[in-house]
Amino acid sequence: MKGIFTRLLDFFLPVRQEEAPRVLEQDASPRRHSRVWKEVPYSSVHQVRNQAESAAVLQSPGVISIIVGETGPKRIQFKCPCGCGEEIRLSVSPRGPRPIWRFHIDAESKLSLYPSVWRASGCRAHFILRHSIASLLLDEPEEGYSV
Ligand SMILES: [Zn+2]
Repeated sequence: MKGIFTRLLDFFLPVRQEEAPRVLEQDASPRRHSRVWKEVPYSSVHQVRNQAESAAVLQSPGVISIIVGETGPKRIQFKCPCGCGEEIRLSVSPRGPRPIWRFHIDAESKLSLYPSVWRASGCRAHFILRHSIASLLLDEPEEGYSV
């Protein structure tokens, strides 16, 4: 199943798959300078077709959902890693609302997001997501997008 899922996203994201290694290196430096206060792993990535299906899979803990429409991935959604219970919704389609996050899914179906996510309201969590592990940062973001 993992192989099929990855190939499906390869089909949707041929350009981003090639871009990802370069972005990973760029994003490596901010992490060294940021203090991580908690790391939260997500256990699975589910591809869904709409908001209702996303809401259903997000009932389970540790799930990341990707809503994929006819033209490709639209949104990535998951529960905030800080534990506040809020759902985070990130736009990933070039045709979607800004800001737009880039993402990469590796061969093990682990998801990475670029750049970091900063909640400008509520818990104000700031975190990076690499290989399905959210690292919550103490620092204010330098280049992360707020949501
Ligand atoms: Zn939170």
